[in-house]
Amino acid sequence: MIKKIQTNIVIIGSGPAGYTAAIYAARANLKPHLISGLEPGGQLTITTDVENYPGFGDVIQGPWLMEQMKKQALKVGTNIHSDIVTKVNFANKPFLASTDSGLEFESKSIIISTGAQARWLNLESEKKFKGFGISACATCDGFFFKDQNVIVVGGGNSAVEEALFLTNFASKVTLIHRRDKLRAEKILQDRLFNNKKIEIIWNHKVKEFIGNDGPVSLKKVKLENTKDGSEKLLETSGAFIAIGHDPATSLFKGELEMDNENYIITKPDSTETSIKGIYAAGDVKDKIFRQAVTAAGMGCMAALEAEKFLSEID
Ligand code: NAP
Repeated sequence: MIKKIQTNIVIIGSGPAGYTAAIYAARANLKPHLISGLEPGGQLTITTDVENYPGFGDVIQGPWLMEQMKKQALKVGTNIHSDIVTKVNFANKPFLASTDSGLEFESKSIIISTGAQARWLNLESEKKFKGFGISACATCDGFFFKDQNVIVVGGGNSAVEEALFLTNFASKVTLIHRRDKLRAEKILQDRLFNNKKIEIIWNHKVKEFIGNDGPVSLKKVKLENTKDGSEKLLETSGAFIAIGHDPATSLFKGELEMDNENYIITKPDSTETSIKGIYAAGDVKDKIFRQAVTAAGMGCMAALEAEKFLSEID
């Protein structure tokens, strides 16, 4: 049965942007409802060490940080729902958001903080070994590759961090990058180059994953040289794909303006979307900075903008 909830503000997503928006909205006495989504806590729950979130003298853990944000949001009066938004309708006011469990929110304003999801190589053979040797999360699955050879694909901060993390378990980590330069920060590159367990194969991309059918297990990767097209095989039991992310915006297609990569477009120096009263914060609208601290900052902006909007319409 559908249960209707009328409210001032619904926050969709529970990463740093969503929880920060909730903390500000709750402290403004707006009694926000936050819907956690498929991955409660967002991308930081699949990270280990966090040493760039200000306010902590010692290294902290991503899942712990998200747990603290949740506690803080609850403490100041956020209603948190462990649920998934399945449908929205922003054409009329109040805005509608329906959930998997049968809740229907009628809300005067909405903050979207649904984040982004890992990108895959989209090879046919990748599908076969996903979860059987291929992963997009070293923190989640690295443990299964103790004393084995693994590869990491990509050349950004994520790929380098995953490669470094995997050296805690694997006997050897090979980073495969399609160019001859990394995108990752200098400090991470230095750590990578100085780690004796890591080898880098430049100018190569994965052409095919090869392994056994029963039980399904990855054994090799076929690599293609991006300069001359030559191919070679590399033995590996694990492959970690770290080639970036796509914003989680499919729910809002046709409702809000988006750019050609499906990131939600917001007004300059603002989190306001193409519809007044609807705001977007964090990785769902940001393809440049993508940091927990910038997402949190945008969550704060979105709540302040929603508060101003609500005071104007009331
Ligand atoms: P990214 O910076 O966009 O890097 C993606 C990497 O994957 C690039 O090296 C790219 O190669 C490669 N790539 C993309 N598509 C590919 C394909 N189809 N086949 C092979 N390689 C492919 O993504 P990210 O590393 O996930 O980082 C995203 C953002 O989060 C960045 O702004 C980053 O600074 C930030 N981040 C920060 C931290 C931190 O501060 N500790 C940690 C993780 C992420 P090219 O270089 O050739 O384009």
